[in-house]
Amino acid sequence: CGIVGYIGNKKASGILLNGLSALEYRGYDSAGIALLNDRIEVIKVKGKVADLVSACLSSGSELNSTIGIGHTRWATHGKPSKENAHPHSTKNFAIVHNGIIENFKEIDDFLLQEGYKKSSATDTETILLLIDYYSKTLSTFEALKKAMSILKGSFAIALIHLGEQKIYAAKKESPLLIGLQEDELFLASDLSAFLEHTKQFVVLEENDIAILEKNGRYKIYNNANKVERLVKSVDWNL
Ligand code: GLU
Repeated sequence: CGIVGYIGNKKASGILLNGLSALEYRGYDSAGIALLNDRIEVIKVKGKVADLVSACLSSGSELNSTIGIGHTRWATHGKPSKENAHPHSTKNFAIVHNGIIENFKEIDDFLLQEGYKKSSATDTETILLLIDYYSKTLSTFEALKKAMSILKGSFAIALIHLGEQKIYAAKKESPLLIGLQEDELFLASDLSAFLEHTKQFVVLEENDIAILEKNGRYKIYNNANKVERLVKSVDWNL
């Protein structure tokens, strides 16, 4: 239902939790964040962003990562539960997703033969495992591109990969925006999630893949071609 992301030089956890609060009005049944450090840490709950904040405080972790993604879920496949809440993760990747993957059952059958076992009932975990599978032989970018060529349905995705100081984002039939600042970038499905930090943004177009890096740098690709998207700005406050 709602996606947020942050990459920069500040602590990501607080920014992600604030962004998720700003998206609460859209409605949701669970919430979670994934932070990138020397491992990927996922904290998620069935319930409200306030419950997620409590879970973060009691996690015992310092949560001092400067790269992370977050999600509020409105369940479409798999009941509302902690297991089905996003982010979904493997050892190397964490993903959040808005939308619906129509052909996830067929892909699950294929992945099962390749030795993958799902730990949730979601269509989203299928995207994650498919990317993880292709990443055995391809770069993250190529693996994401390959997965996108197979997925049917709608998606806005944010993905982090252990060992890469980046956020990958992709969209089809579900909105995704990048908020721009000098030394940092924000990602969200809805402007309101980052308006307190920046009023400059780009809107991703159909089948765009964006790679967000530290120092406010980003690149956008569409079908393997590097593309430029118009930088827009809003001059109003919430
Ligand atoms: N289809 C996904 C799920 O059920 C994403 C739902 C959403 O957009 O929040 O987990």
